[in-house]
Amino acid sequence: MPLEPPRTLSPSKVAAFTDCALAFRFATIDRLPEPPSPWTTKGTLVHAALERLFLLEPAERTIAAALTCLDAAFTVLRDDPEFLDLHLASHDEAAFLDDAEQLVRKYFLLEDPTTIRPIGVEVMLDAEVGGVRVRGIIDRLELDENGELVVVDYKTGRAPSEKYENGRLDGVQFYSLLCERNFGRRPARVKLLYLADPLEISTTPSEQSSRAIERKVGAIWSAVERACARDDFRPKPSKLCEYCAFRVYCPAFGGDIAEGARVAESIRSAATLEHLVDAADRTSPALAD
Ligand code: SF4
Repeated sequence: MPLEPPRTLSPSKVAAFTDCALAFRFATIDRLPEPPSPWTTKGTLVHAALERLFLLEPAERTIAAALTCLDAAFTVLRDDPEFLDLHLASHDEAAFLDDAEQLVRKYFLLEDPTTIRPIGVEVMLDAEVGGVRVRGIIDRLELDENGELVVVDYKTGRAPSEKYENGRLDGVQFYSLLCERNFGRRPARVKLLYLADPLEISTTPSEQSSRAIERKVGAIWSAVERACARDDFRPKPSKLCEYCAFRVYCPAFGGDIAEGARVAESIRSAATLEHLVDAADRTSPALAD
């Protein structure tokens, strides 16, 4: 039976489809929940700390202030299911926070935040690209010394080897295209800041790179539509399988795709029922009794 294609794409969805079409289907079309992992949640925390840092006046953006931002971000995160569901023992929580602090400290080895002119943090942009609505959140948008736009993306994982560098830059080129569409200006530079290494990878977007991303998004969207029409999403085993939340349903590991789809459907039905009961509770307590 044909599947309903997603309404939008994002840089991470484009990368996910390229990495493994079946994992993309489970995450984006079936919407099977993926349990949080310490490394992605740590990424959330460090991004939140740096977001707070750039809300401060330039002269206030010191290491001490960044660590205060980290504490404040953790106060919010510690009550969030994304963190609670990790069920960290106290010594693991201490190691988690220590790693996050090291990442924030290493950020200062990459640039001096007092010299940065941010014009937005966590900037959400969308546009029609290659026949589909694409959405992305830019970690930081700033102006350089010539008043030109610069897109910055923080990465808390390790930097890719040179062989994979271009693939990783596709994500930020995507953001550059969104800037072009939304502001009518192509950024002068897009930068990936790998905090763990620490290492900066940057590139200068061009007419050619913009058109290449546009073509790539269009081709991936056509492939997604085709796979949905034929209900044909194939597994692509790689080293990513080690971290894949859907391995239990993956035929490459003896699983059954239909079982994954059934589980997703039952989770959605339970959520809909809970939502209806909540709504009834709010509007008519007698109805819910
Ligand atoms: S286990 Fe590997 S091949 Fe299977 S869905 Fe996950 S990433 Fe794809």
